[in-house]
Amino acid sequence: MDGKQDLRFGELVVDFANAPTPEEAGSAFVRGAAKAFGYGSKFLRNALDRYPTLKRFEGALQADDRELVGLLLEERRLLSVINNLPCNIVLASYECDQARVLLFRVQPLEPKWDCENPYEEDEVRIAVGAEGKAWLDEVAEMFDDRAPLAQEMDEVKERLLDCLEAYVGLGDRILSIRRSIPPEKAHEAQKWAAYYSRIEAEQEVLAELLERWRKVLGEIVRAEDLPRNQALLDLLAVYNVVNRRELAVGEDGTLFEKPLFEERYFIERAGLADEYYHNVLVYGFVEFLRVAGNRKRLRRCPACSAFFIGGTDRSEAKRCGACRAAAKDRQKRRK
Ligand SMILES: [Zn+2]
Repeated sequence: MDGKQDLRFGELVVDFANAPTPEEAGSAFVRGAAKAFGYGSKFLRNALDRYPTLKRFEGALQADDRELVGLLLEERRLLSVINNLPCNIVLASYECDQARVLLFRVQPLEPKWDCENPYEEDEVRIAVGAEGKAWLDEVAEMFDDRAPLAQEMDEVKERLLDCLEAYVGLGDRILSIRRSIPPEKAHEAQKWAAYYSRIEAEQEVLAELLERWRKVLGEIVRAEDLPRNQALLDLLAVYNVVNRRELAVGEDGTLFEKPLFEERYFIERAGLADEYYHNVLVYGFVEFLRVAGNRKRLRRCPACSAFFIGGTDRSEAKRCGACRAAAKDRQKRRK
């Protein structure tokens, strides 16, 4: 590894923080890590190939799977809306194949002291039946009996009933499609929907990380009292946990120090998405900062607020590369 690894670590963090979308932040992360750790082009192709993106999802989904996958995703979204209502009632399952029964779990309003577990949830089953909407009245009744008595709960009840009606309707449409296609096709759609949800969850993590890292970089760029800068102290605390050097014994019996982040780390992507990104970013950023003078080279462009690593001379680059190139371009055209 040559002497510029610290700058490549800096670029990794800066490119991540400058990414316009969470999806692009994820691929900037993979590219930056490949460069910083010196992994070859084969690694990069492999890692990017496995990188889950909505673009890749759209490209791979077959046209005849589209409708069912769309409905399954809508069903997931509705279920999450239902179960995130500010209310003590949760929809645990809906068996729509034969019996058509909704299973609710209800947290008791008062602890049941005569039971072994006073906080045990009650289970309530409501049959949807073949026709009509009588079941909705039953849900409303359950709600009136078991949800807290409060004015604002009327709104929650209305929302719950609306969502449940849509949810059961969706279940019927999904069932009729599933009955008209081979089971393996239905199974495949199920897998696609799960894959999509995973990408979505990952991008939520990335969006949160993007915001966090923009804030951290902003604070470090501005920081005057470094020994008491909380952003820097927090980074160091994580770095000291992550930066554990481990020795291993090789095939020939020699002891060697295991690299902190092996190629496998980026290919297998084990563990929590949050830590997967954050630990590498912290490690890289601290490696960048620990080289004298680097902190002052980290700057924020006043024109577009992108972060960038300037030259060693503070006056040399006040604006980021893209803005300087644009200014040069304008000058050329004026001549
Ligand atoms: Zn700029």
